[in-house]
Amino acid sequence: MALIVQKFGGTSVASTDRIKKVARRVAHWKARGHDLLVVPSAMSGETNRLIALAREISEAPDPRELDVIASTGEQVTIGLLAMALKEEGVEAISYTGPQVRVLTDSTFTKARILQIDDRKIRDDLAAGRVVVVAGFQGADENGNITTLGRGGSDTSAVALAAALNADECQIYTDVDGVYTTDPRIEPEARKLDTITFEEMMEMASLGSKVLQIRSVEFAGKYKVKLRVLSSFQDEGEGTLITVEEDKHMEQPIISGIAFNRDEAKLTVLGIPDRPGVAYRLLGPIAEANIDVDMIIQNGASDETTDFSFTVNRGEFARALEIVQATAASLGARGVLSDNKICKVSAVGVGMRSHPGIASRMFDVLGREGINIKMISTSEIKISVVVDEKYLELAVRVLHKAFGLDKKEAV
Ligand code: ASP
Ligand code: MG
Repeated sequence: MALIVQKFGGTSVASTDRIKKVARRVAHWKARGHDLLVVPSAMSGETNRLIALAREISEAPDPRELDVIASTGEQVTIGLLAMALKEEGVEAISYTGPQVRVLTDSTFTKARILQIDDRKIRDDLAAGRVVVVAGFQGADENGNITTLGRGGSDTSAVALAAALNADECQIYTDVDGVYTTDPRIEPEARKLDTITFEEMMEMASLGSKVLQIRSVEFAGKYKVKLRVLSSFQDEGEGTLITVEEDKHMEQPIISGIAFNRDEAKLTVLGIPDRPGVAYRLLGPIAEANIDVDMIIQNGASDETTDFSFTVNRGEFARALEIVQATAASLGARGVLSDNKICKVSAVGVGMRSHPGIASRMFDVLGREGINIKMISTSEIKISVVVDEKYLELAVRVLHKAFGLDKKEAV
């Protein structure tokens, strides 16, 4: 008998019929003697709908009130799912995040979980109930409702699994696992049986939408056994997220090609090169809570330097406004911007022991006439920024060049 946390994504609870199906699946696990904590998302499209409603009232919705609104999608699904479980003859009880004291900080719309009080949940589990907890939400120390950022119910599930020391956290979604790349772009993409935490972290942060990055971070930190599975198939082991040592000796060099369309680039030209300019330029961006991704500073030849960085496209307009103001105050020559870019990345822990992967990647892109605008690397990934119009092509040629379409990857 095990304690299992099961998270069901928006498409898995998109209708009452699907919720009934989820209830039958949960009932099946329960019948096998397991303890179950279930974390549903909102019905698919619902969170978007709620946020759109808020935007009809206010162009820049107040973040606290936005969370009050956005968190309601999950309140509907926990109630429906608990009812559906009872219809299946399974004892169940639902709780919102605040009700089980998912304590977060007060960063509305992207709050972080600080602590979870597991007492209530443990009592219910001990009484034989399936506990259904709303994903995506918590409350700060003053009782304000908070949400964890888009896709945050993955993180709710993993955090609950960590707090309860669960045997496994299963993320049920509309794909049957983690793929070498998005099959909608490359039909030859293959499902991976395993992927390491580190690779999954990179894939998630580089644009793979399968898991919210924080959930992977959390799972790695608290050693939660994490598995991605399809909620539409009864068979299949999905993809298990592993620690590196668990993997076979023979690692593929590259495990996947990730991409992200939501990128925008800002370049400040001719900044007088003095100590502290990077801080003066990026400090105000950080203060505005805008995430900066790639950063490039060129060597100065004439005591001025060019400085480029990328931000999420949704934050582009705000970032540009801030940068224009600071660039002027720093005496820079000007600001260039481009929001029609994307980032394509090759990820694999095998890269550590195989030099030359970066140059191979550049060669493949060059041969296709794809110009690289920015490059960044880590131990296990190489990312390039290219024109958005080349996204599909870049993903496909790299997927092929690294042999990901074959069973035996090179
Ligand atoms: N319902 C939230 C969203 O759409 C959280 C989630 O689905 O994980 O972002
Ligand atoms: Mg999701």
